[in-house]
Amino acid sequence: MEYEAVIGLEVHAQLLTESKIFCGCSTKFGAPPNTHVCPVCLGMPGVLPVLNQRVVEFTIRAGLATNCAVQPKSVWARKNYFYPDLPKDYQISQYELPICLDGWLDIQVEGQEKRRIGITRIHMEEDAGKLIHDPAQPVSYVDYNRTGVPLMELVSEPDLRTPAEAGAYLRALRDILVYLEVCDGNMEEGSFRCDANVSLRPVGQVELGTKAELKNMNSFRGVERALEYEIRRQRAILDEGGKVKQETRLWDPDQGKSFGMRGKEEAHDYRYMPDPDLLPLVVDDAWVERVRAGLPELPEAKRRRLVAEHGLSDYDAGVLTSSKVLADYYEAVVAAGAPAKAAANWVTSDLIGALKAQGLEISHTPISPEGLAGLIKLIEAGTISGKMAKEVFAEMMTGGQDAEAIVKKKGLTQVSDEGELESLLQEIFAANPAEVEAFQGGKKKLMGFFVGQVMQKTKGQANPKLVNQLINKLLGN
Ligand code: ADP
Ligand code: ZN
Ligand code: MG
Repeated sequence: MEYEAVIGLEVHAQLLTESKIFCGCSTKFGAPPNTHVCPVCLGMPGVLPVLNQRVVEFTIRAGLATNCAVQPKSVWARKNYFYPDLPKDYQISQYELPICLDGWLDIQVEGQEKRRIGITRIHMEEDAGKLIHDPAQPVSYVDYNRTGVPLMELVSEPDLRTPAEAGAYLRALRDILVYLEVCDGNMEEGSFRCDANVSLRPVGQVELGTKAELKNMNSFRGVERALEYEIRRQRAILDEGGKVKQETRLWDPDQGKSFGMRGKEEAHDYRYMPDPDLLPLVVDDAWVERVRAGLPELPEAKRRRLVAEHGLSDYDAGVLTSSKVLADYYEAVVAAGAPAKAAANWVTSDLIGALKAQGLEISHTPISPEGLAGLIKLIEAGTISGKMAKEVFAEMMTGGQDAEAIVKKKGLTQVSDEGELESLLQEIFAANPAEVEAFQGGKKKLMGFFVGQVMQKTKGQANPKLVNQLINKLLGN
């Protein structure tokens, strides 16, 4: 039997607020354990939570950017469970009435049609603490710095059909959140985490099959690999006539396998209840419209604008908008006077390649946008050839000097003086009458021979385009 996979993703995104969701403690990462804590986030008796307005604002931003309906009223709920990383023994979250409902996101896997993926809901909640297990000792430690750090959970509809689509959805969502400046999108560090639900069903069947939930993936590729493994595992069970068990499975990236959690570990009844310490959250239209007015241009819109405004290919525009920093860099190169297409070529191939080779992020590029524009302008003006430009570029990557200074220092100026090149050509023609005759008789391949002679005499500094034109002109074409 042929099966199709059905995938739905739950993403937890850590919000980039300075303080926690219900108290004034700092959210800064990396502080000594239990230094960013107070009676509220430690769950002491008698304290009251006070909602951080920025958390709501950031979530509205995300909701609008993913086409959700922002709810005029949403409700805080307590999710009850016992675990040492949760000092109150409940997590404040939203349950039946979350802040955002019914959104969508368009995704595209390379070489396939665009697909629209539904977003069921977005809600806000607080993070739990962190347990640190010491393998050398029979004790564990707990760090409550993370307790109360704001999270946003985004739940997709089961609309994804392949691991590649799941990867595309996650990357698109990450890009949007990073553009919105509400989350840093770092999967390795856990500020953007994903649980993946997957089931199989016979092709053509509408009803969903039994799903497994995969946890513990810490990269986009990890999510794709975990899904590929799980789809193979479920297919093997179904092919043998067996039944898939509904369960939570932990991905082990080193073994490339997932393992089911023991029944007890995942048996849960959270006994959700409205939190009596927090009023229902009321968001009026004026607030929503204020947030909407402040939304930045999103990756998809930016991509379309680069194609329309600068005549870039879809591919180049896609590469350039893959991160906001890169897109901003590119636009700054153009704003500094470089032609759009040449700028796109230099950024997408030379700059990205050189940065990769040095293990640098675009945010740490040694060449400023103005610096790169300066180099491109020298080529456009014919001062240096494309080949010389590569040499200058390599030198610029080592830091410091601008293109003009390097060109001067190396004596790289290109010979674009028509008179000078013409007299040089006349000498070459006089010394090679047989070649001239053959060229005029139709042997156009000799063009390369003449250009080569000029390059030899100018030590490679002649403007090749101009030399071509002059040869054609002088030899009567
Ligand atoms: P749970 O009650 O286990 O939390 P939900 O209905 O809340 O399940 O869905 C959680 C996530 O799992 C959502 O992203 C949803 O799209 C996805 N999902 C639900 N049912 C299935 C299924 N049968 N196969 C694949 N994904 C599913
Ligand atoms: Zn606190
Ligand atoms: Mg659920």
